[in-house]
Amino acid sequence: MTVRVGESANAPSFPKAALPLLDDAQLRKNVRHATDVIQHKRAIVVAEQKDWQQLRDAASAIKEHTLRHLDHYLLEFEAKCTAAGGQVHWAADADEANHIIIGLVQQYNSKEVIKIKTMTSDETRLNEALQEASIHPYETDLAELIIQLGHDKPSHIVVPALHKNRMQVREIFQQSMGLPNLGDKPEDLTAAARNYLREKFLRVKVGVSGANFLIAETGGVCIVESEGNGRMCLTLPDALITVAGIEKVIPAFRDLDTFLQLLPRSATGERMNPYNSIWTGVHPGDGPKHFHVVLLDNGRTNILADAEARQTLNCIRCGACLNTCPVYRQTGGHAYGSSYAGPIGAIFTPQVLGMEHGQSLPYASSLCGACYEVCPVKINIPEVLIHLRGRVVREKQSAANLEAIGMKAMAAIFKSARRFEAAQRLGRIGQWPVVSDGWVKHLPGLMGNWTAVRDLRAIPQQSFRDWWRTRKKESGQ
Ligand code: SF4
Repeated sequence: MTVRVGESANAPSFPKAALPLLDDAQLRKNVRHATDVIQHKRAIVVAEQKDWQQLRDAASAIKEHTLRHLDHYLLEFEAKCTAAGGQVHWAADADEANHIIIGLVQQYNSKEVIKIKTMTSDETRLNEALQEASIHPYETDLAELIIQLGHDKPSHIVVPALHKNRMQVREIFQQSMGLPNLGDKPEDLTAAARNYLREKFLRVKVGVSGANFLIAETGGVCIVESEGNGRMCLTLPDALITVAGIEKVIPAFRDLDTFLQLLPRSATGERMNPYNSIWTGVHPGDGPKHFHVVLLDNGRTNILADAEARQTLNCIRCGACLNTCPVYRQTGGHAYGSSYAGPIGAIFTPQVLGMEHGQSLPYASSLCGACYEVCPVKINIPEVLIHLRGRVVREKQSAANLEAIGMKAMAAIFKSARRFEAAQRLGRIGQWPVVSDGWVKHLPGLMGNWTAVRDLRAIPQQSFRDWWRTRKKESGQ
């Protein structure tokens, strides 16, 4: 089983990976500027939607219902898609999905594919697998193209090149496209990308896409996008392969009414995406002649089995939680060691990989709740983070380490009033070298990490219990 979330499961911990990024002033400026702009646009279009909260409730209810009956809706999707001329493949993990896709590309005798932005293929590291099989993937989404040509990694789930500014993009295009005189105006850069991509759209015979929604009722697939590159990839190739996580299924076509109001507003601050494509199977003389859907599990059924964390699978990948998160806004996305950054990455990645990996991610949050407030499907991210922190602690407890031993000792002390009072007395005596003005300045050894970033009051000379006892004695009670 090869469960993956983009980078390897052995990515460095969040604090380690974040440290050099915090020193990168340009990156932090780019991330702050871009997230400010999107948040501002989002706030305007959300404010004008008077039933926003009801829409969030409806979306959350649809997702919850779907997850409770996921097996039913996936089988319904498979049956309807097959009846319409599509072919559905089931992939247990990242390797199996890549293997199926490579086999299909080879079946259609192609050495190249054009790709619409798909987080799911970033998760399985499809591009690397294709290249190993001597198949060249061309990213056609502008931001993904910047990442691919710059040999970089995505840092945001909606705007993968958000950490780059125009000048940096110009440099990448100048070098990779051989355009030394390229200007840095947005129209110069988009014209360069258009020229580079158009020939590929017309030549390459196999397209690879992700999916925003899989519609069980019709067997259709829906993709929303802003640039029109998706529409090209969905209509021009002979064969189209869609790879999607199993949680992308929704029961009925009418459910799009709810999600297509929430998603563009939350993702890019638009009332509607410029391109909304919905396709169902194959139609002679219209679009691809062959259509395949690869349904990917890759750890998702493990999340489904955890009632408290299951809501993670409600995510519609809008990125609003990233834009508002005070932690993401400081570090950008690369610190998360996964294709999924920000608050959703902090809860998705450790669950998919298993709690032995990504253990630091549930702590990459101030628990301020801003992510929950903006989430269009009402995922209570802080609640899931706390739940996952509990799982991390429980796993550590089973191993013999200093923290676990310390926690066990604390538990024993807190369980007995006698032991607690004895510990207080000892603490009162032992604390004098580190106390000044009623505050503990710094604790010795490993505990010093705690007082380095937190204020800790000294143990008072008399506890409330002591004071109460004395008072009772004095009053003769
Ligand atoms: S968790 Fe919510 S806010 Fe974050 S990406 Fe998913 S749907 Fe959007």
